[in-house]
Amino acid sequence: MSDAGPVHDEAWFASRAQPGVRGLKAYDPGHDLVALRRRFGAGLVELGSNENPYGPSPDARAAILDQLHSLHRYPDPLGAGLKRALADKHCVQTEQLLLGNGSHELLMQLAQVFAGPGDEVVFSRYGFAVFALATQAAGATMRIAEALPRGQAGSSQHTPAQSMPLGHDLAALRATLTPATRLVYLANPNNPTGTWFGGRALADFLAQVPGDVIVVVDEAYAEMADAPDYASAVPLLARHANLVVTRTFSKAYGLAGLRVGYLLAAPDLVAVMERLRESFNVNAPALAACEAALGDEAHLQWVCARNAEQRIALTDALRARGLHVFPSQTNFLLVESGDATAAIEAGLLARGVVLRPMSGYGLSDCLRITVGTREENRRLLDALDEVLP
Ligand SMILES: *Cc1c(COP(=O)(O)O)cnc(C)c1O
Repeated sequence: MSDAGPVHDEAWFASRAQPGVRGLKAYDPGHDLVALRRRFGAGLVELGSNENPYGPSPDARAAILDQLHSLHRYPDPLGAGLKRALADKHCVQTEQLLLGNGSHELLMQLAQVFAGPGDEVVFSRYGFAVFALATQAAGATMRIAEALPRGQAGSSQHTPAQSMPLGHDLAALRATLTPATRLVYLANPNNPTGTWFGGRALADFLAQVPGDVIVVVDEAYAEMADAPDYASAVPLLARHANLVVTRTFSKAYGLAGLRVGYLLAAPDLVAVMERLRESFNVNAPALAACEAALGDEAHLQWVCARNAEQRIALTDALRARGLHVFPSQTNFLLVESGDATAAIEAGLLARGVVLRPMSGYGLSDCLRITVGTREENRRLLDALDEVLP
């Protein structure tokens, strides 16, 4: 054949993709959990994805079963019932809420709507991985502010937020803004560092950011934060029309498999985001389950109390083994494990304990460990005692 035409491989398709997509790498989900479950069965200890090991409220399960009779119907495209429940919970208007297929979808859509080629998006080193993905997918330019210094990683749970090792440096973030900045992403508390910043620091930051820059505060772990200086950004919405807060049902509510997140913002910002929302982005069982979950505050409090108790116990147990554990207000711990990190991870995996590798974040000397149940943490520690050098 004289004219075979182009080879339709991945590189060729990438060359036809939007500029922002060409250099992108797909989200790295960590290990192949389906294969690992097949191999280890019920013995697998899954501590890689910051899931809630206690599961959702029984009311959420019952609500899903109720929905099984009407799966032939489209879900409510407005998610009115869930929005009403969320509006009550947060003392906002329903017009201030937008539902997403996980908060991941909303974080992506924020960049798609508010940033493009020539625009800058600012976030912190070691900020949540989706911030970089969202920026690049939108074709905008990433501006990464340095994090607070690593310092002495063994610092206590009561480290003041402004000296949080690896945490967001709000002054550095402020200094990274330019007239081209359209969007700032913060995570409070942050994944993968577990760090947080205080309510006063956030209020000061927002007061300094020009009003035409949209500030997104990702609060995926807010329900689990109990440090005295931690504060949600939600009450600041009344003062800052450029503020967006994202939340999720994936962590404290134990509904990661349903894929529901939401954002809170000014009604007019939400109205613009609505233009790009897929009409039925949250499915009917998910809407019903989340509404029911919100009604079971006791279950949420029970989960958060268990998590806080196990977070302290696991931190102590890891420190007793000579490991540096960073302070965390989440359901995971970042642990400094040095040159042996890859060997430790491999050893744990061979024993059916899954963690999330941190090399993608530039933290290849650290482990990120989801806080499991008491039994799961025991299995982790037993395996760790076998593999630690
Ligand atoms: C887990 C997590 C989310 C939640 O993502 P969903 O898409 O809602 O499951 C968002 N932000 C951070 C920082 C997270 O760790």
